[in-house]
Amino acid sequence: MSFSELGICPEILEAIEVLGFETPSPIQTAAIPPALEGGDILGLSHTGSGKTLAFSIPALESIDPSLREVQVLCLAPTRELAVQICREVDKLALFLDGVSAVPIYGGASFGPQLAALKRGVQFVVGTPGRVIDLMEQGELNPAHISMLILDEADEMLDMGFQDDIDRVVAQLPAERQTLMFSATMSPAIRKLVDSVANEPQEIAIERPQLTVPTCEQVVYEVVFSSRIEVLSRLIEMGRMKRGLVFANTKRVVDDIVDGLLARGYAVDRLHGDMPQTLRERVMDSFRKGNLTVLVATDIAARGLDIDDVDTVVNFELPRDPEDYVHRIGRTARAGRKGRAVSFIGRRDFSLLGRLERFVGVRMQREKVMTGVQVEEVRRESLVDEILENAAEAGELPDELKDIDLPAEQLLAAMFNLLVAKTSRELQPIPEDRPSKFARNSRQVEDGDSVVEKGNDWSSLQQSVTLFMNGGKLLGLRPKDIAGLFYNEGGAPKGTVGDIRLFLKHSLIEVTPEVAPQLIERLGTCQICGYEVNIREDKGRPQGGNAPYEREFRPHERERRGASYGGRGNTGFRRGGERDSRGASSYRERGERQERVFYDKFSRRPRRRD
Ligand code: AMP
Repeated sequence: MSFSELGICPEILEAIEVLGFETPSPIQTAAIPPALEGGDILGLSHTGSGKTLAFSIPALESIDPSLREVQVLCLAPTRELAVQICREVDKLALFLDGVSAVPIYGGASFGPQLAALKRGVQFVVGTPGRVIDLMEQGELNPAHISMLILDEADEMLDMGFQDDIDRVVAQLPAERQTLMFSATMSPAIRKLVDSVANEPQEIAIERPQLTVPTCEQVVYEVVFSSRIEVLSRLIEMGRMKRGLVFANTKRVVDDIVDGLLARGYAVDRLHGDMPQTLRERVMDSFRKGNLTVLVATDIAARGLDIDDVDTVVNFELPRDPEDYVHRIGRTARAGRKGRAVSFIGRRDFSLLGRLERFVGVRMQREKVMTGVQVEEVRRESLVDEILENAAEAGELPDELKDIDLPAEQLLAAMFNLLVAKTSRELQPIPEDRPSKFARNSRQVEDGDSVVEKGNDWSSLQQSVTLFMNGGKLLGLRPKDIAGLFYNEGGAPKGTVGDIRLFLKHSLIEVTPEVAPQLIERLGTCQICGYEVNIREDKGRPQGGNAPYEREFRPHERERRGASYGGRGNTGFRRGGERDSRGASSYRERGERQERVFYDKFSRRPRRRD
């Protein structure tokens, strides 16, 4: 089957040729012809199946270039996906005069998005929250929308966008075509498709198995400057007997090799600039077991065919999910067990999410092993080695026969000497310091009497509270904040709990693990066009002159009035929020607060009274 057999117009066929795609993928072959005929589609297919092209081609063909109004609306769960879809649409529209697409997403200023709408863009790809905002402001006219696309519908439902989708759909003309795509099927997806589509044709594309279950996939969050040390610790712990380490550039490959050689490990490199003979020599050496670690770029490792690599390390995440699959496919071959360890930084969370969706596996988050843990494992490994050798040790050497010391004392001295001789002094790294968030969560686990966790109505098992200096006066709604945390902050699903809005600030419960990342990424950020700061909530400061105190002064009289006292001890059980009299500081101020409880399982927001 070729693209030209699918009934695609010549302008788009030309663009496909420029893109270099030769044959349509299964979802394209199955979805494009019926969609071009105007039918509704439910495509069950994963990222990487070519679904973007499958819906973009019929969508572009449905557009009337002479009409400068929005005609195609595509909803996507994240900003990254919206931008990515728009890029692909623009490439396909290369030879379609007067047709353009724009991404529309929250957490960014309205200006450029409004300008594009005013210019008469016909194809809008947006996140549901921002799309409904613009529709309700009258900036996005739904009257001419003849095609609705829902991409990664399961992801949108997981992120709590059901209500927004319903509100968007309610504004669209009933006479329209709907193309919906989802990686998974569930009752919620079934309900959604029933409500948005009209007798859709269902097309299910089976996901090829990209990774094997015997390959354990783990992630360490570690700053770039600590990575060689963490890699060394993995080697030290004996978890890597024959490891393959991947980096994205030759320069980083060289840095890793230099760093490991300086620490005394048997390591070599493989990159594109090396002559073939040298590359073969290095591969041979790795194959024979003379090297503990081989460090390579993706291209250089193409020809590497070795079966018993026990660990693959992604020193940096690859940008292309296909590369990730190729990299980790080097371990856990032929039914063996293997480990794929990925180092990620603060900015890598959305890329990680994309990789996870692509391979269909959630990678296990692990904490970097501390010096103490490395030391413990190293000592255990030494004992194992001694025991392995004991069977063949033979008699006591002559040199030790005349020593007049108890055997235990002698053995202890020998063991200590061995530990000292084989130890490498560990380099301290920032990841060794326990984070205050980790301490908080441990206190909760230990049943400590100080309840550091949020409050008794929190939807999260363990939480810390983040403070944002923006609230109802800025017109913020809980979903704006949830969108910011998930999209801009890269918070994994289910890590954001209760969101409480006050006049000038908001309090957001998040899991302890994600809090440092959110503070780093969103320390200063934009929400609904306003710049705000996000930090850990320290509670209301003591003393009347603090800005926090001043912020609430207008409500002071109200607070001292009727409601005070009566509810004095029923406030939140949350150390940081109590004022000096031990009373809850927010509720008594008479501020009406809006709470949204994110259901632990569906992640759909629902209001609490
Ligand atoms: P998607 O599933 O839409 O995210 O597509 C995954 C990747 O496959 C994108 O980088 C597309 O550019 C690429 N792609 C889409 N269709 C084809 C095709 N027919 N042949 C080769 N690559 C394709």
